[in-house]
Amino acid sequence: PSPSPAIVSVTSVSMHFGGFRALDDVSIDLQRGEIHAIIGPNGAGKSTLLNVISGLLRPTRGDVHYGDQRITHVPPHRRARLGIARSFQITSIFTGFTVHQNVQLALLAQRGDCRHPFRLTGERYRDEAHELLARVQIAGMGARMGGELAAGDRKRLEFAIALAGDPQVLLLDEPTAGMSGAEREIVVGIIRSLSAERQISVLFTEHDIDMVFDNAHRITVMHQGRRLVQGTPAAVRSDPRVRDVYLGE
Ligand code: ADP
Ligand code: MG
Repeated sequence: PSPSPAIVSVTSVSMHFGGFRALDDVSIDLQRGEIHAIIGPNGAGKSTLLNVISGLLRPTRGDVHYGDQRITHVPPHRRARLGIARSFQITSIFTGFTVHQNVQLALLAQRGDCRHPFRLTGERYRDEAHELLARVQIAGMGARMGGELAAGDRKRLEFAIALAGDPQVLLLDEPTAGMSGAEREIVVGIIRSLSAERQISVLFTEHDIDMVFDNAHRITVMHQGRRLVQGTPAAVRSDPRVRDVYLGE
């Protein structure tokens, strides 16, 4: 087989839970540096698809490739080491450590340098941690405690922690859920800069359709476990099948 230009390719994946088909013969490819949104009604299979790519779920059928490497059966922690970072949770922040220490800890964990994980001298990875905080625009907050941050700044710190693993691919499941307009803008700004400046590929699910049409390079529309449409925002917006699905909700 010829080398794939895609950084992640999902090929004919099905995911059955008992007799239920959460994914039915789904294929999707993620290009390097691409912002790719997965949309569709509740229950369409969006989260399941992200879980198959992160390795949390092993598909009933089909394959996942990372570049030319078949990773269908590679466990999640090894996929993370390869460069696929999945959605991080609020709980990834240690509230009793400073913002700067949180990023240092993430760097320590990622490097597998865990002999003395809590003996942070303040020097280890200091410059790298600072660089990551600068990249998400909270370089001035390094001395604050993780637990003191406002929601938007916490989001920035979560991105810095995810970036400590130097990912090539970021998988985000509803990254703006429950956020205010201003917080959404922060997330959008970070996603756009990761794509434009670092060539990181972002695959995310999102309910805010306007946000998707404004920011995604390509969109995959899921419906009842199947890939309904894939294309540019303009192509997806004008596709009558997409309108039918959303009007039918
Ligand atoms: P979406 O993220 O698009 O809302 P999901 O991928 O979460 O949809 O779920 C797709 C379908 O698969 C839903 O009907 C859901 O109930 C079902 N499903 C998801 N995970 C499981 C599971 N572990 N066991 C059984 N059914 C599941
Ligand atoms: Mg979901």
